Amino acid sequence: MQRTTVDGVTVLWAPGPAPLSAALTFGCGARDESFRTIGVTHLIEHLAMSTLPRLHHEHNASVDLEVTRFTASGRPEQITAFLAAICAALSDLPLDRIRHEAGILTAEASSVTSPAAAFLLNQRFGARGPGLAPYVGPGYDRLSADAVRAHAAAYFTRGNAVLQLTGPPPEGLRLPLPEGRPPQRTTPAARTGASWDEAPIEGAAIALATPVGSPAAALGLALLEHRLTELARHRRGLSYVVQAESSLRDEHTLDTLLSLDCRPGQEAETAELLWQEALRLGRELPTEAELKDEIEGFRESYEDPRAVEAELDRAAAAQLFGLPPRDAAARLAALRAVVPEDVRACLARATAGAQLAVAPDVEPRLAAPDGRPLPRGACWEHGVLPAGEVFRPPLSARARYGAARRSRLVLTGDGVAEIDGDGRLHHIRFDEIVGLERDGEDRTLFGASGCLMELSPRKYSGCGKVIRAVDAAVPAGLAYEASALAPQDPEKT
Ligand SMILES: [Zn+2]
Ligand SMILES: [Zn+2]
Repeated sequence: MQRTTVDGVTVLWAPGPAPLSAALTFGCGARDESFRTIGVTHLIEHLAMSTLPRLHHEHNASVDLEVTRFTASGRPEQITAFLAAICAALSDLPLDRIRHEAGILTAEASSVTSPAAAFLLNQRFGARGPGLAPYVGPGYDRLSADAVRAHAAAYFTRGNAVLQLTGPPPEGLRLPLPEGRPPQRTTPAARTGASWDEAPIEGAAIALATPVGSPAAALGLALLEHRLTELARHRRGLSYVVQAESSLRDEHTLDTLLSLDCRPGQEAETAELLWQEALRLGRELPTEAELKDEIEGFRESYEDPRAVEAELDRAAAAQLFGLPPRDAAARLAALRAVVPEDVRACLARATAGAQLAVAPDVEPRLAAPDGRPLPRGACWEHGVLPAGEVFRPPLSARARYGAARRSRLVLTGDGVAEIDGDGRLHHIRFDEIVGLERDGEDRTLFGASGCLMELSPRKYSGCGKVIRAVDAAVPAGLAYEASALAPQDPEKT
């Protein structure tokens, strides 16, 4: 792989099959947004693409959790023109088009991960960083031109960009991006300890954290995927697809999200199987033959001539996120040096802090590695209802609904707590509110640890006092009127 610099932008290239393919990659993804600015990266991508004239060669753009990519393939002069146009657009975004693109983006309703991965990341990080994945957020019509400008200035700069090419840089290549330094990223607080909860998914899924670039983790996770496929699909006919996604937490930790779908009625069994197989890899040594087989799979994929673009993606991520760059030969050598005990130890650490998501309305039998029942709950709060002024649902609702009889809202000195209709505790301190949605006299509160609370005088008698306290405590920048565009989702996610 070759490395050069054009207009201050790192260019990585390696010869690949024709035609020339380019990917201008920015170290900016959904994890770099805040709850209040959810979608701003995708909006910037659309604004930039909206400036292009009609093009007859392949081109596209995408946003995932970590990066935004502008891609094109074609003749060298077409690539040069495409990249020049994108760089010019990013230097001077057509902010007058925000309203128009907001409508398009709302209709597109894209998501950066699968629903299972989004749920698990939210369980792990709350409404921060990768944990923002499941939320619609305030809506594209609630993103201001200032927010777009600030985000572009922080992330869409030459210091936070890498150009990947499947051939030498074409003549006349220019990348006139705004100046900027690599952004300072902070690692979001992550939930510790294993837990499970029900999620709006069809089967079951698990989040496992492992060291970035760890060959033992790569083998352990590949082996887990393989064993699950064998057991679930071939032997028991439970499941059809094992899907793996990953999310880079920081330069040290990778969160891998593995999901298994299943036939209706097999949800509990599928969840138990997923959890038992993950635990088993943390307890029992894999055989040498199993590891050899997985290494063979990696070798095959590294040596595939079509792997050029994947290698460039990997090298770009290493450059953007400060990871050690390692080529296929070095990675293969590292895999071959792994012994079974490395894999066991790595999976034992990962399962000790795993989060599990299970299809709704099933009660799987899940025990923690120490044998105790696995704790349940999507919210981080597991304490008791704090003291304060108590509000209850209207008498008429309490007479008719058990859920209303169970519900309590408590205004504490520094926040709001609730026992919901399912008897679960939520607690949001004012200083950890990430979003306050106003819809007439109703409010929806979003807490950093993933809690969501709906405040309405119809739901709680005398709730107006709580709403006034919340309105007074939340900084103006975090409050917004409910979107006029966003499709109404009962979960607001
Ligand atoms: Zn789009
Ligand atoms: Zn909660």
